[in-house]
Amino acid sequence: MTQMTRIERRTGTAFELKRGQRLIVCDPMGEQVSDLVAFGLHDRDEVISNGRTFDYQDTIYLTTGHRLYSNRSNIMLHIEQDDVGRHDFLLTPCSKDTFRILYNDDDPHRGCFGNLAAALDDYDIGADRIPCAFNIFMNVPVDGDTGRFSVQPPLSKAGDTITFRAEMDLIIGMTACSAPTSNNGTMTPIDYRID
Ligand SMILES: [Zn+2]
Repeated sequence: MTQMTRIERRTGTAFELKRGQRLIVCDPMGEQVSDLVAFGLHDRDEVISNGRTFDYQDTIYLTTGHRLYSNRSNIMLHIEQDDVGRHDFLLTPCSKDTFRILYNDDDPHRGCFGNLAAALDDYDIGADRIPCAFNIFMNVPVDGDTGRFSVQPPLSKAGDTITFRAEMDLIIGMTACSAPTSNNGTMTPIDYRID
């Protein structure tokens, strides 16, 4: 078994994940979100799509057995294992503007969006192409009648993991989320490995 790679708190990374490889994401300390985006390795106009995924999976709460689709309706990732069972695919990556608008920060952090943009720049993917992320371990319950939602502490405990299998060659962008509310006030690292 290969060792885990650490994404330090409030940072991000990008890497290639080939078809058939598995990506194991671990929350080492608990209650920490990781935003994940995926692009086609060979054609970066193909990108992960929450809308397509909701359409084909008939739920907004995705877990073991569900597939994450691209804008071209190809399966990008298959969730093979999930200790937590609650993730968010509705909300965009936190950004400088998130911290300015929701937190009134004078000198806002660049957030997951800025961290993803910096990491994906190595693959010639510009910031405007970053889609709604699959927010691993993010807990956003939605009221079935009113449609109102709230960001609640993640249900992940220290050491919990989720495993994705790549169904095509991908570029993955991933973060250790920077937003206090999403992470119950403490921003901690995220670990991952590719098998
Ligand atoms: Zn974030």
